[in-house]
Amino acid sequence: MALVIHWFRRDLRLIDNSALTAAAARSGGDVLPVFIIDPALTGGRDVAQARLNFMYGCLRDLDTHLRQRGSRLVIRRGDPASILPNLARETGATWVTFNRDYTPLGRRRDSRITAALRDAGIEADAHRDAYIREPGDVLSGAGTPYTVFTPFKRAWLGLPKDWHPATAAPALRAPLSVASDPLPDPAPDSPALPPPGERPAFARLRQFARAGGLDAYADQRDALAAEGTSRLSAHLRFGALSPRQAAQAALDAGDSKGAQTFLSELIWREFYAHVLFHYPHADQSNFNRAYDRLAWGSGDAAEDARRFEAWTRGRTGYPIVDAAMRQMAETGWMHNRARMITASFLTKDLHLDWRLGESFFMQSLIDGDPASNNGGWQWAAGTGTDAQPWFRIFNPILQSKRFDPAGDYVRRWVPELARYDAAAIHAPWEASPLLQRAAGCIVGADYPAPIVDHAVQREETLRRFKALKA
Ligand SMILES: Cc1cc2nc3c(=O)[nH]c(=O)nc-3n(C[C@H](O)[C@H](O)[C@H](O)COP(=O)(O)OP(=O)(O)OC[C@H]3O[C@@H](n4cnc5c(N)ncnc54)[C@H](O)[C@@H]3O)c2cc1C
Repeated sequence: MALVIHWFRRDLRLIDNSALTAAAARSGGDVLPVFIIDPALTGGRDVAQARLNFMYGCLRDLDTHLRQRGSRLVIRRGDPASILPNLARETGATWVTFNRDYTPLGRRRDSRITAALRDAGIEADAHRDAYIREPGDVLSGAGTPYTVFTPFKRAWLGLPKDWHPATAAPALRAPLSVASDPLPDPAPDSPALPPPGERPAFARLRQFARAGGLDAYADQRDALAAEGTSRLSAHLRFGALSPRQAAQAALDAGDSKGAQTFLSELIWREFYAHVLFHYPHADQSNFNRAYDRLAWGSGDAAEDARRFEAWTRGRTGYPIVDAAMRQMAETGWMHNRARMITASFLTKDLHLDWRLGESFFMQSLIDGDPASNNGGWQWAAGTGTDAQPWFRIFNPILQSKRFDPAGDYVRRWVPELARYDAAAIHAPWEASPLLQRAAGCIVGADYPAPIVDHAVQREETLRRFKALKA
């Protein structure tokens, strides 16, 4: 049997890896595991150094895992369209396996690379792996893609639950002596990251499922100060964990509300991938083209730049927004509720184009994912798949009171406000000068005054959406 190259991409694991399993079956275990560092991707605009560091950590873990099994990871740097055919020629491989990428960029890249392989007489064998239901699997009775989550979810759940995540890695033989570039070292100024790689990811899933996280998920997932969510997003982003493994944990937990809600969130992940696949224009444009005429900005470019900078630096004067932005800067991750609050604030209080926020999130998040990020931003901006988009304008003070009632999340990330009590911390500018002095933080001096008035900006957003409708 001939050697098969397995090209790792967003599937950095050995267990339950569709294309790797196929490569092992086809070659009798004679698999060359390859990862290509493509400067066109690692040097792009929307790259977060923290995300790259996390990926390098996953690659290191993958290499260790492979070495323990008598194999190793070959790293190459450059354009896969030339590297893969060259590597095949060098090793005599006639087959390359990989798992599909469904993003517009990924699809363009894969068709170019598949053509280059075919020209070189090499078979490119693409597999479904990154989602439980591949785009195209979940269609309405009329055969059209869903554009609203609830019917998509109903149809998704109506399909047979026939996924069976593998529990062991395929047997692999030692690779030939093929030269490998060194693994890049993570950049030193990155936030502290969760342990990267397949085994830490699975351990995290097990801990979440067994230590009560899954059961409590429905009640705790919106509590900003709690550890109420799985923190699996970066692992899923790089495929250190498969979506089938995550969904299986929910099924194994039975019919609890927590397990059902967790599965539902995994279906959101699938939904946004399907939406971007079927409507690739959403990558750069409003999903709903009716909003193309929506006005963005305040009319004063310098003011807009000032507002955007305040938002990115966590200095808007709205504690919940600032806490969230600082959490992302310090950890490369932000709570889902906080993502909704900050995205609503940028688009509906500052009237800045969602694409600015989408891009900034991609430059910051370790889980930054084109489909989920785009879907989340367009949902918040009101330009996306949401059926009732434009009167959902989050009030940052009420959100703070509701989802961080004691103020602990704000205190954790905005230490200037640590001595404000639960009554005052959500809107510190309303506290009396005496109280501000007693808390050791004067608004306007030690912490910014609100850069805009929410009530005024809310009306402005309604006005803009109404003008569009008219
Ligand atoms: C403006 C905005 C931008 C976002 N950008 C991203 C992104 O770049 N990458 C990303 O993975 N998620 C993104 N999300 C979705 C969500 O915020 C994160 O998936 C979640 O916070 C990750 O934390 P967790 O793993 O603890 O999630 P959990 O609550 O434990 O959920 C489990 C898994 O379900 C998936 N999931 C949960 N909520 C969503 C959702 N709303 N949309 C899609 N998938 C979801 C994730 O894979 C997550 O890991 C974004 C949401 C918003 C509102």
